Amino acid sequence: MIERTLSIIKPDAVAEGHTGDILADLEKAGFKILALRMTRLSQAQAEGFYAVHRERPFFPSLVKFMTEGPIVVMALECENAIARLRELMGATNPANAVEGCIRKRFATSIERNCIHGSDSPETAAVELRYCFSTLDLL
Ligand code: ATP
Ligand code: MG
Repeated sequence: MIERTLSIIKPDAVAEGHTGDILADLEKAGFKILALRMTRLSQAQAEGFYAVHRERPFFPSLVKFMTEGPIVVMALECENAIARLRELMGATNPANAVEGCIRKRFATSIERNCIHGSDSPETAAVELRYCFSTLDLL
C-alpha cells in the first residue's frame, strides 16, 4: 500500500551539516519527496507537535532541543512508508540502533537523534496536516 509519512531532520543534524546525506539516504531507499520546507519551530509549535509526550520527564528538554535551530520538514511517499521510514531511522536511542541506519550514523544521544518519523497511519495524517497544507501535497 502506498503511504505518506511525515519526517523531520532535527536541529542537531541540520546544524551539523547532515541534511544532504539524510535526504540522499531517503531517496536511495525509494522515498519520493512530496513536499519539503526548512523552518524553525516556535515553543508553542514544538509543544503542539510532541503533545503526546507532554507528561514525560524529557518533554521540556525535547521542546528546547526542537526549537534550538532550523529543521527540515518533509512529506514522504512510498510503499509502506511509515514502517520503512522507522526502519531506516533505527531505534530512538542510537546506542540501540543497528549499523547503517540513519540514527546510528548521525544521532548523538537518545534526545539528539537527528530524524523524526511518524509512528502510525493516524499519527502520520495528524502530523502531515500539522506541517503542510492540502495544496502543498497535491
Ligand atoms: P520521533 O517521535 O522523534 O520520531 P521516536 O518515535 O523514536 O522519535 P518517541 O518516544 O516518540 O521516539 O520520542 C520523541 C523524541 O523525544 C525522541 O525522538 C527523542 O528526541 C526524545 N526522547 C525520547 N525519549 C527520551 C528520553 N528518555 N530522554 C530524552 N529524550 C527522549
Ligand atoms: Mg515518536
